[in-house]
Amino acid sequence: MAEKERLDMFCYQCSQTARGTGCTVKGVCGKEPTVARLQDNLLIATKGMAAYLYHARELGYTDTEIDAFLERVFYSTFTNVNFDAEDLVRLAVEAGEMNVRTMRLLKKAHIETYGEPEPTDVQTGTAKGRSIIATGHGLKALEELLKQTEGTGINVYTHSELLPAHGYPGLKKYKHLVGNLGISWRDQRNLFSRYPVTILGTSNCVLIPREEYRDRMFTTGPARLPGVQHIAGYDYIPVIKKAKSLPELEEKPGDVVLPTGFSKSVVLSLRDKIKQLVEAGKIRHFFLVGGCDSPLKKMEYYREFVRRLPQDTVVLTLGCGKFRINDLDLGEVEGIPRLIDLGQCNDAIVAIDIATALAEVFGVGINELPLTIVLSWMEQKAVAILWSLFALGIKGIYLGPIVPAWVNDDILKVLKEEYDLRLIGDPEEDIKQIFNRRC
Ligand code: SF4
Ligand code: SF4
Repeated sequence: MAEKERLDMFCYQCSQTARGTGCTVKGVCGKEPTVARLQDNLLIATKGMAAYLYHARELGYTDTEIDAFLERVFYSTFTNVNFDAEDLVRLAVEAGEMNVRTMRLLKKAHIETYGEPEPTDVQTGTAKGRSIIATGHGLKALEELLKQTEGTGINVYTHSELLPAHGYPGLKKYKHLVGNLGISWRDQRNLFSRYPVTILGTSNCVLIPREEYRDRMFTTGPARLPGVQHIAGYDYIPVIKKAKSLPELEEKPGDVVLPTGFSKSVVLSLRDKIKQLVEAGKIRHFFLVGGCDSPLKKMEYYREFVRRLPQDTVVLTLGCGKFRINDLDLGEVEGIPRLIDLGQCNDAIVAIDIATALAEVFGVGINELPLTIVLSWMEQKAVAILWSLFALGIKGIYLGPIVPAWVNDDILKVLKEEYDLRLIGDPEEDIKQIFNRRC
């Protein structure tokens, strides 16, 4: 009991803090544990937004209304400002709305800079030649790397959340963007040890490197790693120099080809066909299975869930959680692929726009669509997205692999009551429950 109470909150942001080390039961200022946790929740969600905003700004896109909201949020978590739990929930919903706006800004930036993605099959083997692997989310960093390596004979591979880069016309035009190596961020250490090539980390989801490849790894943008050379700006000469000093990779085809690049326009160009297939009972249900990957054993749920889905279902995916399922051959339903990769986690905005458009096509509300969201979260961007989905009134989301640690029983109760939030359980049972609810 004492242990639980001690862990109920943690705040050490002001000089009143208990014992000079931290308020862990209740704030000396009077802050209740649930208020402290809701403040943490708000900061966690807005950190996710900040990452998207950063990448939009990199491409010259900004929004002063979002900036002003961030100021308001940070101020509301200041000492002795806001002790109102209900208001902190309202602010979290507002953060969800602002994150929709932020994801839309970033999508606009990506499309206006690189064109709208088009369906693309990405190779997963190696081509002969010296190579650089780019990991993270930074399309701008990848573009600069591609420009600077063009004509040098160096091949560039994506890793993890850069896989969707292959679908953008402005990036896929570079012939030396040859494929994707590895899966999500969690395989970095093994992957980078296995391939003796240069590595560029462009954003979050970089891991502290093993010694064996530290000297051939570089960071750029917001990423920094101990003992790893950081490139401020976009001058990648040291990266290219290192790549030229390393051995060539051999030609070795991959075991699978990964499909990506399904944009809003591509999916909505199929809307009449989708309507016809749904009305004919040939597509029974859509699932959005995506979000973050993580090494937790419970992440196996997502692959099992998708493997057990019947043939008359279509799976949309996004984020690096897709690497749990994107090697599965799910086939098609009369020309509609059963696995549709919409892109990075910020492309949740594409999923939202598609769902909204399909709701119009079927003349129903978004919650009446035959669609269930099965979300995996690891870090702050996924939390921002979760609040965006709540802000849009989307109910019945399945969330895993675990309940966020800052969500106590009181907060979980509100999320269940207000948003019908469900926690992932057994894949088979969850699928049955979803279909039973729909019948
Ligand atoms: S703000 Fe309140 S809860 Fe936080 S350290 Fe100060 S007294 Fe404790
Ligand atoms: S989806 Fe989440 S966990 Fe995966 S690479 Fe992106 S930010 Fe990291």
